[in-house]
Amino acid sequence: MRQKLIAGNWKMHGTLEFSKKYLDFLLPKVPPSLRVLIAPPYPLIAPMVARSQGFSIEMGAQNMHAENEGAFTGEVSALLLREIGAKFVILGHSERRHLFGETSAFIRKKVFQALVHGLQPIVCIGETLEEKESGKTKATLERQLFEALEGLTPEEVEKVVIAYEPVWAIGTGKSASVDLAEEMHGFCRLFLAEIFGKKVSDRLPILYGGSVKLENAHAFLKQENIDGALIGGASLDPEGFLHIIQSI
Ligand code: PEP
Repeated sequence: MRQKLIAGNWKMHGTLEFSKKYLDFLLPKVPPSLRVLIAPPYPLIAPMVARSQGFSIEMGAQNMHAENEGAFTGEVSALLLREIGAKFVILGHSERRHLFGETSAFIRKKVFQALVHGLQPIVCIGETLEEKESGKTKATLERQLFEALEGLTPEEVEKVVIAYEPVWAIGTGKSASVDLAEEMHGFCRLFLAEIFGKKVSDRLPILYGGSVKLENAHAFLKQENIDGALIGGASLDPEGFLHIIQSI
């Protein structure tokens, strides 16, 4: 069956010193049977990859550009991320969509590019509060899934991870109810089965994200269609993050 996966998104937090202490604490305690991922700010990826050699935590990026190189000041390519040891990349995070105006077309290009370079894309989808209140949650999820994955072969889709992150739950302390999250995960899985086939959809990990913390992690993680969590704020405390990992 699908392996459970816990991913930490540090956003724009952390320093070199913080990352060293964090890994010194966490690395020896994470069992190799679990898949634990951390996405720190770009400059910390290479030193954290070096420090994690021989352990089972994987490092990745919070974003990337869709081109290999060019006049794109401030951007980073999949090629370079792969070269410095990143294993995955978070794409279409709601903060990228809403604060930086990323469009679905741009996100889709990035998904292709990540796959070309062997980076596993973690594609974030989720409805805003307005969409939720006007009954558009499912339509939003269908549209975002379709727009991000359109044109991929079933074999390529099998390499993708989906993160369902209701925008109103990110960083607000108000997570979705476990029942709602499980219902939306099941809905996404059915929709993906319609497009890419049941075999692919059954294998695809779908993470929940949005104010996951120690108190609620276990309830989410034991749901049939919830294959793990994408965790922002609570991943910055290594002890708390470890407890969440241990609650699987
Ligand atoms: C996120 O950044 O993807 C996230 C889910 O943040 P938080 O856990 O802080 O809500």
